Amino acid sequence: MKLEGSCHCGAVKFTVESHTPYPYMRCYCSICRKTAGGGGYAINIMGLAKSLSVRGRKFVSVFRARVRDREGGRGTHSPGRRHFCAKCGSALWAWDPRWAEWVYPFASAIDTPLPKPPEEQEIMLDYAAPWSEIPHGKKHTHFREYPDEGIADWHAKRGLTVK
Ligand SMILES: [Zn+2]
Repeated sequence: MKLEGSCHCGAVKFTVESHTPYPYMRCYCSICRKTAGGGGYAINIMGLAKSLSVRGRKFVSVFRARVRDREGGRGTHSPGRRHFCAKCGSALWAWDPRWAEWVYPFASAIDTPLPKPPEEQEIMLDYAAPWSEIPHGKKHTHFREYPDEGIADWHAKRGLTVK
């Protein structure tokens, strides 16, 4: 399906094709939480990078977080690139050269009504803010760090891949 997205001020608009539009994965890592997740987490979905079309590209800025290992070393720049609107600060999409054929729009930037996920995953819980209320129960699967399946597999296994 074709997804339309935009920042809050309207300087940036984009479209992207996605077979995997269910916003089921909440990431509680410190980067998502600070840059895009007022509720303690951010949600990324996945689309085809080559289908990404952007209006207002000159307002798009890119952030590469510095990440440290568990020993708290000097840290290196994360390969992941978080794109946001330089005028209003809205988080737009992430892109990572390790998985260059995909782009990961923030669900919060998408204007097209997304399908409601039948279940959710909470990931990166080792890094969650202490005040975050982590939802639990039958419809929630928790991961201390990365989940055990990718976004494409999650959709495929549940018959939710959109043609
Ligand atoms: Zn904006």
